[in-house]
Amino acid sequence: MKHVTYIGTRDASIQASASEAILKGICADGGLYIPAEIPTMDTPLEELAKLSYQDLAFTVLRKFVDFTDEELRACIDGAYDEKFDTKEIAPLVQKGDAYFLELFHGRTLAFKDMALSILPYLMKTAAKREGIDKEIVILTATSGDTGKAALEGFADVEGTKIIVFFPEDGVSPVQKLQMTTQEGKNTCVVGILGNFDDAQTAVKQIFTDVELAAELEARGYVFSSANSINIGRLVPQIVYYFHAYLQAVKQGGLSMGESINFSVPTGNFGDILAGWYAMKMGLPVGHFVCASNDNKVLYDFFQTGTYDRNREFHVTVSPSMDILISSNLERLISHMVGQDLTKEEMTRLQTEGKYSVEIKESKITGEYATEAETYTAIKDFFGKTGYVMDTHTAVGYAAYKKYKEATGDNTPTVIVSTASPYKFTKDVMMAMDDKYKTEDAFVLMDELAKISGVAIPEPIRGIETREILHKNVCEKTKIQEFVKGYLL
Ligand SMILES: *Cc1c(COP(=O)(O)O)cnc(C)c1O
Repeated sequence: MKHVTYIGTRDASIQASASEAILKGICADGGLYIPAEIPTMDTPLEELAKLSYQDLAFTVLRKFVDFTDEELRACIDGAYDEKFDTKEIAPLVQKGDAYFLELFHGRTLAFKDMALSILPYLMKTAAKREGIDKEIVILTATSGDTGKAALEGFADVEGTKIIVFFPEDGVSPVQKLQMTTQEGKNTCVVGILGNFDDAQTAVKQIFTDVELAAELEARGYVFSSANSINIGRLVPQIVYYFHAYLQAVKQGGLSMGESINFSVPTGNFGDILAGWYAMKMGLPVGHFVCASNDNKVLYDFFQTGTYDRNREFHVTVSPSMDILISSNLERLISHMVGQDLTKEEMTRLQTEGKYSVEIKESKITGEYATEAETYTAIKDFFGKTGYVMDTHTAVGYAAYKKYKEATGDNTPTVIVSTASPYKFTKDVMMAMDDKYKTEDAFVLMDELAKISGVAIPEPIRGIETREILHKNVCEKTKIQEFVKGYLL
């Protein structure tokens, strides 16, 4: 089988195999790796429908990596096992007027587990193939969920170290405890006095700092990334778009070949981009709704063609989407308008904080939900169906309703359900009733169990009593010094 070549978003002459791209994480010029050609899914949907999640993953991923079939099988078997609390891995449930693709059945209760449970295996296999004998240092900026999922994936994985930076005051209490109580000799967790964009920018700078890389290499380290700038994060996410479609057909919601829509709660644009790749491979998708919260930089972009990060940053009830620089949008742009223009516009983003490109027929519409709309969506939907959405999923649902109202598009729709409501218990319960305002988030978990009929997920039961193992706090301008101090 011919393997996909990866090229840079800003320079098509930068080329890499899948293994190289997974290990490097980011191109030397600051661009991201994209497939030079998006492979087509040549297995008919009818055949795909017979596969388990693992076999479907094998069929999709095999098109994107340069591993042997045995190597890839081992990665998939290691990742999608009993770590997930359901055999289906990613159940599709129909509630009210939509489908919900529940991607939160992994250890950390958010969709990041779908990719981060397999990334360590992909990275180790890539390192073996490339003959890397250095210790791989995973640097990760997180808006809350990536950090824990990456820690869980890489903890005590031989030959790796992982350092996670999260916004000290920008994550939910459960998210924070999930990270600061992380065990594993090779883990390091740091709260930064800044937001996700500060952390992501610092991490990207460290990756492209040639001097620092040389210094570390001399000490036996190489950097890689567990953020969705790494192609090894994106590719596993393509699988569940196929899975959702096939499940919807099985459940009788549409006939094979008919189109489906997806509404995706979006931050760094990784999840929705994976869906877009699935569509490019041949999955019958009518439309994507790119759902934002009050940080609606993507909504404005899809409305006007201008991306402008010069605006107030809002800390919202959907913190994993509190992002003003959506890195993976660069990939979509490069596919649509080519490398030269992408390079120009990304340079403008760095110098002016904004850029403009005309994107035609991406099949993506931006929508957004305010804080009040998010709360209302949770409460009303629970009232109608008894189903409790988390705050991020609620943004996706509210955006879907607005899109449907504005366009009259009645295509069956999957809301990509990115987190368990237990991860954001306090806000979910406050959406239900203002009386919970003064209650402790952990006490409210019992209340949530009562009203939803869904038990508290095992990985966070009793988390409030676990020992805090990580207490590092760092200024946002001192991230590089911290990394050096920790490693050298
Ligand atoms: C990360 C995250 C998102 C945003 O996904 P992107 O791939 O960054 O667009 C949405 N919801 C939750 C719960 C997340 O953890």
